[in-house]
Amino acid sequence: MNTMRVAQVPGPKRAFEIVERPIPEPPPGTVRVKVTACGVCHSDALVKEGLWPGIQYPRVPGHEVTGTIDAVGAGVIGWTRSQRVGVGWNGGYCARCDNCRRGNLFACETHQVTGISFDGGYGEYMIAPASAVARFPDELSPSAAAPLMCAGLTTFNALRNSGARPGDVVAVLGLGGLGHLGVQYAAKMGFKVVGIARGKDKEPLARQLGASIYVDSQSQDPAAELLKLGGASVVIATVTAGAAMSAVVGGLAPNGTLLVAGAPESLELSPVALIFGQRSVKGWYSGMSIDSEDTLAFSARTGVQSMNETFPFERVNEAYERMMSGKARFRVVLTMGGAK
Ligand SMILES: [Zn+2]
Ligand SMILES: [Zn+2]
Repeated sequence: MNTMRVAQVPGPKRAFEIVERPIPEPPPGTVRVKVTACGVCHSDALVKEGLWPGIQYPRVPGHEVTGTIDAVGAGVIGWTRSQRVGVGWNGGYCARCDNCRRGNLFACETHQVTGISFDGGYGEYMIAPASAVARFPDELSPSAAAPLMCAGLTTFNALRNSGARPGDVVAVLGLGGLGHLGVQYAAKMGFKVVGIARGKDKEPLARQLGASIYVDSQSQDPAAELLKLGGASVVIATVTAGAAMSAVVGGLAPNGTLLVAGAPESLELSPVALIFGQRSVKGWYSGMSIDSEDTLAFSARTGVQSMNETFPFERVNEAYERMMSGKARFRVVLTMGGAK
């Protein structure tokens, strides 16, 4: 078979169409991945709705990719056919620009994003730069773990680099696709975890995921509740509402950090809260392929799992709508060829 099916976005705000294309040969420095599964992330809206400047259409989105290498391009060292791999948001780095040379690979000036700069994982095969590929452990299921390549990586990597120490109070704001993973990672890292979400009904879930305290932000003041615990060293904000983020800043401990992982249009903060508590606000880029490997290995070892709704690849439009509805519990995953 020399052709493959991919789900492409023909142009901004257009429905996905499944088309046949020749299976591409991997150019030098890249590998071809036979895709097993691909998560449907909210960031895929950047492609679907035409929100990423300069994007070339048609484009195949997808940056929560799991699969198997089935061809290796010239000059690639360390990767072989049949290796299980994942590909995430970071689409590789050049290792030559000033940012790369300073070790800030995430800020590479070539700035390649999987499924945006080049075609991603909504298809039977994709080509990935070797520097974007992560080893995928045998213990994990490729479809169950696909969301760990973005939602998992983002929360795991942000938390482990947050400066919080075991035993510290760490709050996770929002219990959706990112937050349900954030609570699990925070608990497994040994933090005292506070789950914050809207409504009393989310409390059992928060506790099941590992939160020892739950704050209903509709009936309680989250900042006041955090201060009762001595303040949070870190609040990881996974929501997309700026006001919800602003409301927790006063609950940070002195020198505490609001870690911004969700992307509201704007964020208003009290400078006084920042100055007098020496508090800070920090964004966190998801991570590189080695961070993905660490995320996967940690998840396999500790039992952190993404809760998913799975759709066969052919139902891509339905899967995307489900993700965008915000009602999915909690991540949406496309599977190729009946993968489990
Ligand atoms: Zn993503
Ligand atoms: Zn670079």
